Amino acid sequence: MSTSAADMDALHTRADAAAQSAYAPYSRLHVGAALRSASGRIYTGCNVENASFSIGGCAERAAIAAAVQAEGQAFRLDAIAVAAFRDDGLALPITPCGACRQALVEFGADAQVGFRQPDGTWLTVSADALLPYRFCFPDR
Ligand SMILES: [Zn+2]
Repeated sequence: MSTSAADMDALHTRADAAAQSAYAPYSRLHVGAALRSASGRIYTGCNVENASFSIGGCAERAAIAAAVQAEGQAFRLDAIAVAAFRDDGLALPITPCGACRQALVEFGADAQVGFRQPDGTWLTVSADALLPYRFCFPDR
């Protein structure tokens, strides 16, 4: 199943909304992610920081965890949008971090990944394009 431009627009809106739930008292970078599974269902996540920085979690992986929880081993990623905002509400251009890129390709190397560019428009690329030399087991 491929994701249409209208479906991506809907994910942009849901990612923007998910960012409003972020717990980001340290970076003040409120990140939201909304993904569409191959089954057509939508899952969202937000970043959750911690005073012990390394145990904080990203929005993308929170959304993936929600999808796996709901769909189990059958979950496949069709598309995801990631949005970020400063404390004052200004939208910021971000791309998924390296760990999240690895998590995205695990569930869909062909998945569409949308994020804002510096001019505020959305760019969509494949997960594969974001992490071409990713780690994978040789036999998979
Ligand atoms: Zn990340």
